[in-house]
Amino acid sequence: MSKLVQGYEVVIGFETHAQLSTKSKIFSRASVAFGAEPNTQACAVDMALPGTLPVMNVGAVERAIEFGLAINAHIAERSIFARKNYFYPDLPKGYQISQFEIPVVQGGEVSFFLEVGKETVRKTVRLERAHLEEDAGKSLHEDFIGQSGIDLNRAGTPLLEIVTQPDMRSSEEAVAYAKELHKIVTWIGICDGNMQEGSFRCDANVSVRKPGGPLGTRREIKNLNSFKFMQQAIDYEVRWQIDQIEDGHTIQQATVLFDPDTGETRAMRTKEDAADYRYFPDPDLPPLVIGRDWVERVKSEMAELPRVMAERFVRDYALPEYDATQLTQSKAVAAYFEATAKACGQAKLASNWIMGEVSRRLNASEMAIEQAPVSAAQLAALIGRISDNTISNNAARQVFEGLWNGEGEVDAIIEAKGLKQMNDTGELEKIIDDVLAANPKNVEEFKAGNAKALNGLVGPIMKASKGKANPGQVNALLMQKLG
Ligand code: ADP
Ligand code: MG
Repeated sequence: MSKLVQGYEVVIGFETHAQLSTKSKIFSRASVAFGAEPNTQACAVDMALPGTLPVMNVGAVERAIEFGLAINAHIAERSIFARKNYFYPDLPKGYQISQFEIPVVQGGEVSFFLEVGKETVRKTVRLERAHLEEDAGKSLHEDFIGQSGIDLNRAGTPLLEIVTQPDMRSSEEAVAYAKELHKIVTWIGICDGNMQEGSFRCDANVSVRKPGGPLGTRREIKNLNSFKFMQQAIDYEVRWQIDQIEDGHTIQQATVLFDPDTGETRAMRTKEDAADYRYFPDPDLPPLVIGRDWVERVKSEMAELPRVMAERFVRDYALPEYDATQLTQSKAVAAYFEATAKACGQAKLASNWIMGEVSRRLNASEMAIEQAPVSAAQLAALIGRISDNTISNNAARQVFEGLWNGEGEVDAIIEAKGLKQMNDTGELEKIIDDVLAANPKNVEEFKAGNAKALNGLVGPIMKASKGKANPGQVNALLMQKLG
């Protein structure tokens, strides 16, 4: 499956920081609400005042368990918090509380569909781990009387760092993985997924190698806060690394930043190794113990997962796997589909309409499906009128347009626009006879074996019927008349 770039294989692994949707911080009771005045949401623990002690937020642990269950991972019965030591102005403790040797979530996988040429292939990315940690504060460089400022509101915000194996082989795969992961965390509700606000931050580790060779040295691209930038940044980085190697240079492990203005990646710092952080177990926090009964309870309370729902769509509605995956992009889309399919009894048609016309219209107006002016019941009614032959597919698109623009209900729009299909054989036969009489050349050519000559007849017939003739019926009648 791997696509070579100038004879090189691309290798990508992801580290994603998902901000957990708790009300308070991971080790303190301060609020994590976004957008507050600087330093109004930093308590003594977050400011690292001497004598303060961290207390584990159970809600953060529960969200980590939910994530582990969603990706079929092992939830450690006993995991350890560690101090990751480094100095930075936005980290007053001088260390970040994280997990190192024994993370709470171990293994697991994320799989998704990918379009390669005309084919749809399934790709599975193995996860290495997901661990709980606290976020740091923020340095503000907007000049406070010639100085930088520190905002500690973000300090102690709960994060789940999700680390993959180096399993991705192209920027397309990487973006598809990130989108799938985003779907999972928002679906199960452990993260709001807001990339602009930094709730879902992806770092891409990128290297290239000759196929079959050992892994190349990676560079880590930091903070890719949109799927579009993610792809651009990786593509640029891959070309840059190949150019370096082709020019006889070796790649140095480094952390780089993507600049959306220039479309380039730029070295930020040489990469630290684990040893640089002098990790050791945090003596202020006991091991995190998760009983199996807790895991079972969380499991029993979790909503149906996207991949489970997709499997059910394949089973219950006889949908192709591809459709089922598309329709489980979000809970709202899935609910819209199920409501439509149940109301009209035509699941595949409902799927076609939702993935086609509905999503085209939503995209064009940058709307989410919750805001769609056409309800599932209306779409079902429209599909009903196609399958009972009242209107053609073409006419249905006009009715849909009318529904979207609030021109009324399905039958009223069909009536008002005069879109009813001509189902009266007598009337249609007369039109066909007229067209046949007026186009003797096409008739002859068709009879002589040129199947294409039929198009020259169908066109004028549809035109004469003002588009109201049923194409299937027209074909059947033509065949009958032409022998
Ligand atoms: P660190 O924590 O120092 O960044 P890790 O070993 O945890 O290092 O790896 C981080 C990420 O880098 C993982 O997602 C892993 O899959 C990926 N990775 C490791 N080696 C490579 C490589 N040679 N090329 C691309 N990605 C890699
Ligand atoms: Mg890392």
